[in-house]
Amino acid sequence: MAKEGDTQRTAATTLVTGGRSGDFARHVVNPPVWRGSTHLYDSCEDLRSRKGSNKDGEFFYGRRGAPTQWALSEALTALEPGAAGTVLYPSGLAAIVGALLAVLKPGDVLLVSDNAYDPTRNTAAGLLKRYGVEHRFFDPLDMDAFADAFCDRARAVFLENPGSLTMEVCDIPALARIAREHDAVSLVDNTWATALGFPALEHGCDIAITALTKHVGGHSDVMMGSAAAGDRWYRKLRLTAQELGHVVSPDDAALALRGLRTMGVRLERQSASALALAQWLAARDEVAHVLCPALPGTPGHELWQRDFSGSCGLFSFVLAGRDDAARCRFVDALSLFGIGYSWGGFESLALPFDVNPVRSVMAWPRAGWGLEDRHAVRLSVGLEDAGDLIADLERGFAAMNEG
Ligand SMILES: *Cc1c(COP(=O)(O)O)cnc(C)c1O
Repeated sequence: MAKEGDTQRTAATTLVTGGRSGDFARHVVNPPVWRGSTHLYDSCEDLRSRKGSNKDGEFFYGRRGAPTQWALSEALTALEPGAAGTVLYPSGLAAIVGALLAVLKPGDVLLVSDNAYDPTRNTAAGLLKRYGVEHRFFDPLDMDAFADAFCDRARAVFLENPGSLTMEVCDIPALARIAREHDAVSLVDNTWATALGFPALEHGCDIAITALTKHVGGHSDVMMGSAAAGDRWYRKLRLTAQELGHVVSPDDAALALRGLRTMGVRLERQSASALALAQWLAARDEVAHVLCPALPGTPGHELWQRDFSGSCGLFSFVLAGRDDAARCRFVDALSLFGIGYSWGGFESLALPFDVNPVRSVMAWPRAGWGLEDRHAVRLSVGLEDAGDLIADLERGFAAMNEG
Protein backbone atom coordinates (compact mmCIF):
# COMPACT_ATOMS: atom_id res chain seq x y z
CA MET A 1 0.00 0.00 0.00
CA ALA A 2 1.40 3.43 -0.88
CA LYS A 3 2.20 5.48 2.20
CA GLU A 4 2.53 9.19 2.53
CA GLY A 5 5.88 10.53 1.44
CA ASP A 6 6.92 7.31 -0.18
CA THR A 7 7.62 7.22 -3.86
CA GLN A 8 6.24 3.73 -4.34
CA ARG A 9 3.85 3.43 -7.24
CA THR A 10 0.50 1.76 -6.96
CA ALA A 11 0.26 -1.82 -8.16
CA ALA A 12 -1.81 -0.80 -11.20
CA THR A 13 1.10 1.29 -12.45
CA THR A 14 3.73 -1.29 -11.50
CA LEU A 15 1.89 -3.85 -13.61
CA VAL A 16 2.68 -1.64 -16.61
CA THR A 17 6.15 -0.38 -15.69
CA GLY A 18 7.64 -3.34 -13.80
CA GLY A 19 10.56 -5.22 -15.33
CA ARG A 20 11.35 -2.54 -17.87
CA SER A 21 14.45 -1.09 -16.27
CA GLY A 22 17.04 -3.24 -18.08
CA ASP A 23 19.25 -1.93 -20.87
CA PHE A 24 17.78 -4.60 -23.09
CA ALA A 25 14.36 -2.95 -23.05
CA ARG A 26 15.46 0.64 -23.43
CA HIS A 27 14.07 1.20 -26.92
CA VAL A 28 11.16 -1.25 -26.91
CA VAL A 29 8.07 -1.64 -24.74
CA ASN A 30 8.46 -5.40 -24.39
CA PRO A 31 11.81 -6.93 -23.46
CA PRO A 32 12.93 -9.04 -26.45
CA VAL A 33 12.62 -12.82 -26.35
CA TRP A 34 16.25 -13.58 -25.65
CA ARG A 35 16.86 -17.15 -26.71
CA GLY A 36 20.21 -18.67 -25.89
CA SER A 37 21.80 -21.53 -24.06
CA THR A 38 25.36 -20.31 -24.55
CA HIS A 39 26.71 -16.97 -23.53
CA LEU A 40 29.88 -16.04 -25.41
CA TYR A 41 32.68 -14.43 -23.42
CA ASP A 42 35.19 -11.94 -24.75
CA SER A 43 38.27 -13.82 -23.64
CA CYS A 44 39.57 -16.54 -21.35
CA GLU A 45 40.06 -13.90 -18.72
CA ASP A 46 36.45 -12.74 -19.09
CA LEU A 47 35.23 -16.35 -18.80
CA ARG A 48 37.33 -17.03 -15.71
CA SER A 49 36.38 -13.77 -14.04
CA ARG A 50 32.68 -14.80 -13.99
CA LYS A 51 33.26 -18.32 -12.73
CA GLY A 52 32.59 -17.84 -9.02
CA SER A 53 30.03 -15.13 -9.45
CA ASN A 54 26.33 -15.96 -9.16
CA LYS A 55 24.47 -12.69 -9.20
CA ASP A 56 21.01 -11.80 -10.44
CA GLY A 57 20.92 -10.33 -13.92
CA GLU A 58 24.38 -11.52 -14.91
CA PHE A 59 25.05 -13.60 -18.03
CA PHE A 60 26.68 -16.96 -17.35
CA TYR A 61 24.90 -19.83 -19.08
CA GLY A 62 21.29 -20.27 -20.27
CA ARG A 63 20.17 -22.09 -17.15
CA ARG A 64 20.73 -18.93 -15.14
CA GLY A 65 18.30 -17.10 -17.38
CA ALA A 66 18.61 -14.10 -19.64
CA PRO A 67 16.99 -10.66 -19.93
CA THR A 68 13.45 -11.90 -20.71
CA GLN A 69 13.27 -14.04 -17.56
CA TRP A 70 15.03 -11.37 -15.51
CA ALA A 71 12.46 -8.80 -16.62
CA LEU A 72 9.59 -11.03 -15.46
CA SER A 73 11.26 -11.70 -12.10
CA GLU A 74 11.92 -8.00 -11.62
CA ALA A 75 8.28 -7.12 -12.37
CA LEU A 76 6.97 -9.78 -9.97
CA THR A 77 9.34 -8.61 -7.22
CA ALA A 78 8.16 -5.02 -7.69
CA LEU A 79 4.57 -6.21 -7.17
CA GLU A 80 5.32 -8.16 -3.97
CA PRO A 81 5.84 -5.84 -0.99
CA GLY A 82 8.70 -7.15 1.16
CA ALA A 83 10.29 -9.28 -1.55
CA ALA A 84 14.04 -9.24 -2.15
CA GLY A 85 13.61 -11.32 -5.30
CA THR A 86 11.45 -13.80 -7.19
CA VAL A 87 12.49 -17.20 -8.54
CA LEU A 88 10.74 -18.59 -11.63
CA TYR A 89 9.85 -22.26 -12.04
CA PRO A 90 8.53 -24.28 -15.00
CA SER A 91 5.10 -24.75 -13.33
CA GLY A 92 3.19 -23.72 -10.23
CA LEU A 93 3.75 -27.15 -8.73
CA ALA A 94 7.49 -26.91 -9.45
CA ALA A 95 7.49 -23.63 -7.48
CA ILE A 96 5.79 -25.34 -4.52
CA VAL A 97 8.17 -28.31 -4.57
CA GLY A 98 11.23 -26.14 -5.21
CA ALA A 99 10.38 -23.87 -2.28
CA LEU A 100 9.68 -26.82 0.05
CA LEU A 101 12.99 -28.45 -0.88
CA ALA A 102 14.75 -25.14 -0.16
CA VAL A 103 13.51 -25.01 3.43
CA LEU A 104 13.31 -28.70 4.45
CA LYS A 105 15.87 -31.40 5.20
CA PRO A 106 15.54 -35.08 6.17
CA GLY A 107 14.15 -35.47 9.69
CA ASP A 108 12.06 -32.29 9.50
CA VAL A 109 8.30 -32.21 9.92
CA LEU A 110 6.14 -30.21 7.50
CA LEU A 111 2.69 -29.02 8.59
CA VAL A 112 0.31 -28.86 5.63
CA SER A 113 -3.01 -27.04 5.58
CA ASP A 114 -5.75 -29.63 5.06
CA ASN A 115 -7.28 -27.64 2.23
CA ALA A 116 -4.07 -27.33 0.23
CA TYR A 117 -4.06 -27.99 -3.50
CA ASP A 118 -4.14 -31.75 -4.06
CA PRO A 119 -0.75 -32.09 -5.85
CA THR A 120 0.84 -30.26 -2.88
CA ARG A 121 -0.60 -32.90 -0.57
CA ASN A 122 0.68 -35.63 -2.89
CA THR A 123 4.20 -34.15 -2.86
CA ALA A 124 4.18 -34.20 0.95
CA ALA A 125 2.96 -37.80 1.03
CA GLY A 126 5.20 -38.92 -1.84
CA LEU A 127 8.50 -37.24 -2.71
CA LEU A 128 9.04 -35.52 0.64
CA LYS A 129 8.26 -38.69 2.57
CA ARG A 130 10.71 -40.67 0.41
CA TYR A 131 13.38 -38.11 1.27
CA GLY A 132 12.80 -38.36 4.99
CA VAL A 133 10.46 -35.42 5.62
CA GLU A 134 7.35 -36.22 7.67
CA HIS A 135 4.12 -34.30 7.24
CA ARG A 136 1.01 -33.62 9.27
CA PHE A 137 -2.19 -32.06 8.03
CA PHE A 138 -3.90 -29.41 10.13
CA ASP A 139 -7.27 -27.65 10.01
CA PRO A 140 -6.35 -24.03 9.14
CA LEU A 141 -9.55 -22.76 10.80
CA ASP A 142 -8.71 -24.30 14.19
CA MET A 143 -5.93 -22.22 15.81
CA ASP A 144 -5.67 -24.41 18.92
CA ALA A 145 -5.26 -27.59 16.89
CA PHE A 146 -2.69 -25.81 14.73
CA ALA A 147 -0.62 -24.76 17.74
CA ASP A 148 -0.87 -28.35 19.07
CA ALA A 149 0.38 -29.79 15.76
CA PHE A 150 3.89 -28.40 16.33
CA CYS A 151 6.75 -30.54 17.60
CA ASP A 152 10.48 -29.84 17.95
CA ARG A 153 11.14 -31.01 14.42
CA ALA A 154 8.39 -28.91 12.81
CA ARG A 155 10.38 -26.85 10.37
CA ALA A 156 7.85 -25.44 7.91
CA VAL A 157 4.16 -24.68 7.51
CA PHE A 158 2.45 -24.79 4.14
CA LEU A 159 -0.65 -22.59 3.80
CA GLU A 160 -3.08 -21.87 1.01
CA ASN A 161 -5.51 -18.98 1.07
CA PRO A 162 -8.34 -19.38 0.31
CA GLY A 163 -8.24 -23.18 0.40
CA SER A 164 -8.37 -25.10 -2.86
CA LEU A 165 -11.87 -25.96 -4.07
CA THR A 166 -13.64 -25.30 -0.75
CA MET A 167 -12.39 -21.71 -0.46
CA GLU A 168 -11.93 -21.42 3.31
CA VAL A 169 -10.31 -18.08 4.13
CA CYS A 170 -7.78 -18.53 6.91
CA ASP A 171 -6.29 -16.04 9.31
CA ILE A 172 -2.87 -15.93 7.67
CA PRO A 173 -1.36 -13.24 9.95
CA ALA A 174 -2.28 -15.33 13.02
CA LEU A 175 -1.13 -18.64 11.49
CA ALA A 176 2.16 -17.10 10.34
CA ARG A 177 2.69 -15.62 13.80
CA ILE A 178 2.22 -19.01 15.46
CA ALA A 179 4.61 -20.56 12.92
CA ARG A 180 7.23 -17.92 13.70
CA GLU A 181 6.84 -18.49 17.45
CA HIS A 182 7.75 -22.12 16.76
CA ASP A 183 10.71 -21.16 14.55
CA ALA A 184 9.00 -22.62 11.51
CA VAL A 185 9.12 -21.15 8.02
CA SER A 186 5.72 -20.24 6.57
CA LEU A 187 5.01 -20.72 2.87
CA VAL A 188 1.73 -19.72 1.29
CA ASP A 189 0.23 -20.67 -2.05
CA ASN A 190 -1.14 -17.26 -3.01
CA THR A 191 -2.32 -18.16 -6.52
CA TRP A 192 -5.96 -17.11 -5.97
CA ALA A 193 -5.40 -13.47 -4.99
CA THR A 194 -1.85 -12.93 -6.32
CA ALA A 195 0.28 -10.21 -4.73
CA LEU A 196 -2.28 -7.69 -6.02
CA GLY A 197 -5.06 -8.96 -3.77
CA PHE A 198 -3.05 -10.34 -0.86
CA PRO A 199 0.46 -9.09 -0.01
CA ALA A 200 1.51 -12.35 1.61
CA LEU A 201 4.96 -11.34 2.86
CA GLU A 202 3.51 -8.20 4.46
CA HIS A 203 0.96 -10.42 6.18
CA GLY A 204 3.77 -12.37 7.85
CA CYS A 205 4.57 -15.24 5.49
CA ASP A 206 8.19 -16.00 4.63
CA ILE A 207 7.65 -17.29 1.08
CA ALA A 208 4.84 -16.37 -1.33
CA ILE A 209 4.18 -18.87 -4.10
CA THR A 210 2.10 -18.17 -7.21
CA ALA A 211 1.09 -20.46 -10.04
CA LEU A 212 1.70 -17.94 -12.85
CA THR A 213 -0.15 -20.42 -15.09
CA LYS A 214 -3.39 -18.98 -13.73
CA HIS A 215 -3.90 -15.19 -13.48
CA VAL A 216 -0.51 -13.94 -14.60
CA GLY A 217 -0.48 -15.97 -17.82
CA GLY A 218 -4.20 -15.34 -18.04
CA HIS A 219 -4.64 -16.84 -21.51
CA SER A 220 -4.37 -20.59 -20.86
CA ASP A 221 -1.27 -20.91 -23.00
CA VAL A 222 1.65 -20.96 -20.58
CA MET A 223 2.72 -22.91 -17.50
CA MET A 224 4.93 -21.30 -14.91
CA GLY A 225 5.32 -20.66 -11.21
CA SER A 226 7.12 -18.27 -8.91
CA ALA A 227 8.30 -18.00 -5.34
CA ALA A 228 9.08 -14.61 -3.81
CA ALA A 229 10.80 -14.00 -0.49
CA GLY A 230 12.61 -11.42 1.57
CA ASP A 231 16.36 -11.41 2.19
CA ARG A 232 16.24 -14.32 4.63
CA TRP A 233 14.99 -16.89 2.07
CA TYR A 234 15.44 -15.53 -1.42
CA ARG A 235 19.08 -16.67 -1.90
CA LYS A 236 18.25 -20.16 -0.64
CA LEU A 237 15.28 -20.41 -3.01
CA ARG A 238 17.43 -19.32 -5.93
CA LEU A 239 20.29 -21.70 -5.12
CA THR A 240 17.93 -24.65 -4.69
CA ALA A 241 16.25 -23.88 -8.03
CA GLN A 242 19.72 -23.88 -9.61
CA GLU A 243 20.55 -27.19 -7.94
CA LEU A 244 17.30 -28.62 -9.30
CA GLY A 245 18.15 -27.35 -12.77
CA HIS A 246 14.99 -25.25 -13.02
CA VAL A 247 14.79 -22.73 -15.83
CA VAL A 248 11.84 -21.27 -17.74
CA SER A 249 11.92 -20.61 -21.44
CA PRO A 250 12.27 -17.00 -22.63
CA ASP A 251 9.23 -17.47 -24.88
CA ASP A 252 7.13 -18.46 -21.88
CA ALA A 253 8.55 -15.61 -19.81
CA ALA A 254 7.50 -13.19 -22.57
CA LEU A 255 3.97 -14.66 -22.55
CA ALA A 256 3.78 -14.34 -18.75
CA LEU A 257 4.98 -10.72 -18.96
CA ARG A 258 2.37 -9.96 -21.59
CA GLY A 259 -0.29 -11.48 -19.35
CA LEU A 260 0.94 -9.54 -16.34
CA ARG A 261 0.38 -6.17 -18.03
CA THR A 262 -3.39 -6.72 -18.19
CA MET A 263 -3.81 -8.82 -15.05
CA GLY A 264 -5.22 -5.94 -13.00
CA VAL A 265 -8.09 -5.16 -15.35
CA ARG A 266 -8.81 -8.83 -15.97
CA LEU A 267 -9.01 -9.53 -12.25
CA GLU A 268 -11.31 -6.57 -11.67
CA ARG A 269 -13.69 -7.66 -14.40
CA GLN A 270 -13.58 -11.35 -13.46
CA SER A 271 -14.11 -10.54 -9.77
CA ALA A 272 -17.17 -8.41 -10.54
CA SER A 273 -18.66 -11.08 -12.82
CA ALA A 274 -17.93 -13.85 -10.30
CA LEU A 275 -19.68 -11.88 -7.57
CA ALA A 276 -22.73 -11.40 -9.81
CA LEU A 277 -22.84 -15.14 -10.57
CA ALA A 278 -22.31 -16.03 -6.89
CA GLN A 279 -25.20 -13.77 -5.86
CA TRP A 280 -27.44 -15.31 -8.49
CA LEU A 281 -26.48 -18.85 -7.44
CA ALA A 282 -27.05 -18.08 -3.74
CA ALA A 283 -30.72 -17.37 -4.55
CA ARG A 284 -31.29 -20.69 -6.38
CA ASP A 285 -33.09 -23.62 -4.73
CA GLU A 286 -30.67 -26.06 -6.37
CA VAL A 287 -27.74 -24.55 -4.46
CA ALA A 288 -27.01 -25.36 -0.80
CA HIS A 289 -23.86 -23.28 -0.26
CA VAL A 290 -21.92 -20.72 -2.25
CA LEU A 291 -18.22 -20.72 -1.37
CA CYS A 292 -17.10 -17.30 -2.53
CA PRO A 293 -15.04 -15.23 -0.07
CA ALA A 294 -16.05 -11.94 -1.71
CA LEU A 295 -19.79 -12.66 -1.24
CA PRO A 296 -21.17 -11.09 1.96
CA GLY A 297 -22.64 -13.70 4.27
CA THR A 298 -20.40 -16.56 3.12
CA PRO A 299 -17.93 -18.18 5.54
CA GLY A 300 -14.64 -16.32 5.61
CA HIS A 301 -16.04 -13.11 4.15
CA GLU A 302 -15.01 -11.00 7.18
CA LEU A 303 -11.43 -12.25 7.04
CA TRP A 304 -11.38 -11.68 3.30
CA GLN A 305 -12.54 -8.12 3.88
CA ARG A 306 -9.92 -7.58 6.55
CA ASP A 307 -6.90 -9.04 4.74
CA PHE A 308 -7.53 -8.93 0.99
CA SER A 309 -7.66 -5.98 -1.34
CA GLY A 310 -8.98 -7.98 -4.25
CA SER A 311 -10.63 -11.13 -5.45
CA CYS A 312 -10.76 -13.13 -8.68
CA GLY A 313 -13.09 -15.17 -10.87
CA LEU A 314 -12.71 -18.47 -9.00
CA PHE A 315 -15.35 -19.75 -6.57
CA SER A 316 -17.35 -22.89 -5.83
CA PHE A 317 -20.89 -23.87 -4.97
CA VAL A 318 -22.43 -26.99 -3.46
CA LEU A 319 -25.61 -28.51 -4.87
CA ALA A 320 -28.50 -29.05 -2.44
CA GLY A 321 -28.83 -32.81 -1.96
CA ARG A 322 -28.26 -33.63 -5.64
CA ASP A 323 -26.39 -36.72 -6.81
CA ASP A 324 -23.45 -36.93 -9.20
CA ALA A 325 -25.68 -37.71 -12.20
CA ALA A 326 -27.63 -34.49 -11.63
CA ARG A 327 -24.42 -32.55 -11.32
CA CYS A 328 -23.11 -34.04 -14.58
CA ARG A 329 -26.34 -33.06 -16.37
CA PHE A 330 -25.79 -29.50 -15.12
CA VAL A 331 -22.13 -29.27 -16.14
CA ASP A 332 -22.60 -31.03 -19.48
CA ALA A 333 -25.40 -28.63 -20.47
CA LEU A 334 -23.18 -25.55 -20.06
CA SER A 335 -21.94 -24.15 -23.34
CA LEU A 336 -19.91 -21.10 -22.26
CA PHE A 337 -18.10 -22.93 -19.46
CA GLY A 338 -15.48 -25.40 -20.68
CA ILE A 339 -14.91 -28.50 -18.58
CA GLY A 340 -11.32 -28.67 -17.48
CA TYR A 341 -8.58 -28.12 -14.95
CA SER A 342 -6.76 -24.91 -14.35
CA TRP A 343 -8.35 -21.48 -14.05
CA GLY A 344 -7.62 -17.77 -14.27
CA GLY A 345 -7.78 -17.64 -18.07
CA PHE A 346 -9.98 -15.32 -20.14
CA GLU A 347 -12.43 -18.18 -20.78
CA SER A 348 -14.86 -19.59 -18.22
CA LEU A 349 -14.45 -23.12 -16.89
CA ALA A 350 -16.49 -25.49 -14.72
CA LEU A 351 -15.08 -28.36 -12.68
CA PRO A 352 -17.11 -30.91 -10.68
CA PHE A 353 -15.56 -31.94 -7.34
CA ASP A 354 -16.58 -33.75 -4.18
CA VAL A 355 -15.79 -32.09 -0.89
CA ASN A 356 -15.05 -34.91 1.52
CA PRO A 357 -12.51 -37.27 -0.10
CA VAL A 358 -9.81 -34.61 -0.38
CA ARG A 359 -9.63 -33.84 3.36
CA SER A 360 -7.76 -35.64 6.13
CA VAL A 361 -8.53 -33.81 9.38
CA MET A 362 -11.14 -31.13 8.70
CA ALA A 363 -14.54 -31.91 10.17
CA TRP A 364 -17.22 -33.42 7.93
CA PRO A 365 -20.01 -32.54 7.51
CA ARG A 366 -19.15 -28.94 8.18
CA ALA A 367 -21.29 -26.89 10.54
CA GLY A 368 -24.55 -26.02 8.83
CA TRP A 369 -24.04 -28.49 5.97
CA GLY A 370 -26.24 -31.53 5.32
CA LEU A 371 -24.58 -34.90 4.86
CA GLU A 372 -25.69 -34.90 1.22
CA ASP A 373 -24.16 -31.49 0.52
CA ARG A 374 -20.97 -32.74 -1.04
CA HIS A 375 -21.48 -32.58 -4.78
CA ALA A 376 -19.88 -29.33 -5.73
CA VAL A 377 -18.85 -27.38 -8.81
CA ARG A 378 -15.99 -24.92 -9.09
CA LEU A 379 -16.36 -22.09 -11.58
CA SER A 380 -13.57 -20.05 -13.08
CA VAL A 381 -15.33 -16.97 -14.42
CA GLY A 382 -13.71 -15.48 -17.49
CA LEU A 383 -14.21 -12.30 -19.46
CA GLU A 384 -17.50 -13.21 -21.16
CA ASP A 385 -20.55 -11.07 -20.38
CA ALA A 386 -21.89 -11.92 -16.91
CA GLY A 387 -25.48 -11.95 -18.15
CA ASP A 388 -24.60 -14.50 -20.83
CA LEU A 389 -22.87 -16.65 -18.23
CA ILE A 390 -25.91 -16.52 -15.93
CA ALA A 391 -28.15 -17.54 -18.84
CA ASP A 392 -25.80 -20.48 -19.40
CA LEU A 393 -26.06 -21.54 -15.73
CA GLU A 394 -29.85 -21.28 -16.03
CA ARG A 395 -29.74 -23.71 -18.97
CA GLY A 396 -27.58 -26.02 -16.85
CA PHE A 397 -30.12 -26.08 -14.03
CA ALA A 398 -32.96 -26.67 -16.51
CA ALA A 399 -31.10 -29.74 -17.84
CA MET A 400 -30.36 -30.90 -14.30
CA ASN A 401 -33.99 -30.60 -13.20
CA GLU A 402 -35.30 -32.41 -16.28
CA GLY A 403 -33.40 -35.60 -15.42
C1 LIG B 1 -2.91 -24.73 -10.55
C2 LIG B 1 -2.45 -24.52 -9.17
C3 LIG B 1 -1.14 -24.81 -8.83
C4 LIG B 1 -0.15 -25.45 -9.77
O1 LIG B 1 0.12 -24.72 -10.91
P1 LIG B 1 0.60 -25.48 -12.25
O2 LIG B 1 1.22 -24.42 -13.04
O3 LIG B 1 -0.63 -26.08 -12.84
O4 LIG B 1 1.59 -26.54 -11.82
C5 LIG B 1 -0.74 -24.56 -7.53
N1 LIG B 1 -1.60 -24.07 -6.63
C6 LIG B 1 -2.87 -23.78 -6.92
C7 LIG B 1 -3.76 -23.23 -5.87
C8 LIG B 1 -3.34 -24.02 -8.20
O5 LIG B 1 -4.63 -23.79 -8.48
